[in-house]
Amino acid sequence: MARFVFITGGVVSSLGKGIAAASLAATLQARGYKVRLRKLDPYLNVDPGTMSPLQHGEVFVTDDGAETDLDLGHYERFTGVHASKADNWTTGRIYAEVIAAERRGDYLGGTVQVIPHITDKIKEGIQADTDSLDFVLVEIGGTVGDIESLPFLEAIRQLANELGPTRSLFMHLTLVPYIPAAGELKTKPTQHSVKELLGVGIQPQILLCRCDRPIPENERKKIALFCNVRPESVIPALDCSTIYEVPLNYHNEGLDREVLRHFNLSFYGEPDMRRWERVVSSIKNPEGEVTVAVVGKYTGLLDAYKSLGEALAHGGFAHNVKVKLDWVDSEVFEAGEGEAVARLEGVHGILVPGGFGERGTGGKIEAVRFARERKVPFFGICFGMQMAVIEAARNLVGLKGASSTEFGPCADPVVGLLTEWLRGNQVERRNASGDLGGTMRLGAYAAHLAEDSLVRAVYGQADIEERHRHRYEVNVNYRERLEAAGLRFSGMSPDGELPEIVEYPDHPWFIGVQFHPELKSKPFAPHPLFAGFVGAAVRQARLV
Ligand code: GLN
Repeated sequence: MARFVFITGGVVSSLGKGIAAASLAATLQARGYKVRLRKLDPYLNVDPGTMSPLQHGEVFVTDDGAETDLDLGHYERFTGVHASKADNWTTGRIYAEVIAAERRGDYLGGTVQVIPHITDKIKEGIQADTDSLDFVLVEIGGTVGDIESLPFLEAIRQLANELGPTRSLFMHLTLVPYIPAAGELKTKPTQHSVKELLGVGIQPQILLCRCDRPIPENERKKIALFCNVRPESVIPALDCSTIYEVPLNYHNEGLDREVLRHFNLSFYGEPDMRRWERVVSSIKNPEGEVTVAVVGKYTGLLDAYKSLGEALAHGGFAHNVKVKLDWVDSEVFEAGEGEAVARLEGVHGILVPGGFGERGTGGKIEAVRFARERKVPFFGICFGMQMAVIEAARNLVGLKGASSTEFGPCADPVVGLLTEWLRGNQVERRNASGDLGGTMRLGAYAAHLAEDSLVRAVYGQADIEERHRHRYEVNVNYRERLEAAGLRFSGMSPDGELPEIVEYPDHPWFIGVQFHPELKSKPFAPHPLFAGFVGAAVRQARLV
């Protein structure tokens, strides 16, 4: 039966709760345990799908088509365990299900309340489908003390009480700040944060203390004394240069040992951390560097491109090079061709990522043109592929009015609204006036790769499955004209209806894909497209 580790955060946000949870999971996995990670998010949106990437960061899409928090991306990258809809619950989704049940009459005349109905639903979500696991790590979003996370805290308090200490553990991540004027580390914020947790009935057994310098033994003891934990369970979490070093650091500080000790499991012997050591050594000792320009709209918040940044780094691991990212706001190119030339001259690869809406598209199209004409390796992802098709239609086929219907009616809709598609043998239907939430073409879909294409060589196989998140689609009716102009449709949906991949055979490396390969890349298994793209950038930089 699964044991549950609940991870809360205190003092401030952005301390790295998601990475901490993922790191502990990776270390337990390296000891041979079967793990799964889950996230509870206190906001009222049913999922982050309708939120701006500038507010929330990236939306991570699972194979089963759920739009989830970006922490689930860390979970997958650190453990290789594919997440599903069952692994991310928001307050909105919990309430939506309870209210739907109320409308159906499921509560048989009873008054529906936060306790027990909302808390029961949360407990049910946490425990669903966990029987075959050794550990379930549940991260609670937000910071202790927030009004909106109270039902989640109450639910995990109840659940831990029901499961008992042999099956539950509370871990709390706090900040131990250094105050320069006093020349001291301060433990008071940690004490207050634990007090706040105690106020809702939760006594953490392990404290992870984020700090920018080593925490002296004395301070550790002080924290232990005031917060009712063993000194060995006060685990320093020092800043480090790469997130992939975090599992090694937590292990060195004894985190996994303390967790196993709590559950009365043997903590002798060492986990096999070799793959983490290899990744860290590749990051710290690169044999060269390439520069990739990422031309997008949300460059003001890099969390909006979390998986993309990681996947590009993974591509670098495959060639032992550091991939330096030059984040370019596509609007800077709208001043004219000269701007694009000045900014993109000298980069070794250009990537246009996913995106929504017309703003900034002129600049993205300029970036595509630069890459095509100058033969710079190009990678277009989702919206980036659509931009590549519009660029080809306008500049090679000569359809000046070519555009996407996402921006309104146009003379040549080379990218158009997708109203019907196949999932396996099932038809899915949408229309222009339907809901925006959860209604895109979402999750894993298959594609068939054309013989003798670059993309088939990159994957080394003919059939693939990748995750999608889009509402518009390259219009297959323009295929003949675009192919005659040189843009090959090298990957199609199995029924041959939906263009999945385009490429230019007479270009060193130019691929546009309708899906999001960055979501499936792992540090120890770089995605073939990212490895291929960075490889092309390495050749462009003449490093080989
Ligand atoms: N806006 C485009 C669409 O909905 C692309 C989406 C994306 O890049 N994820 O089709």
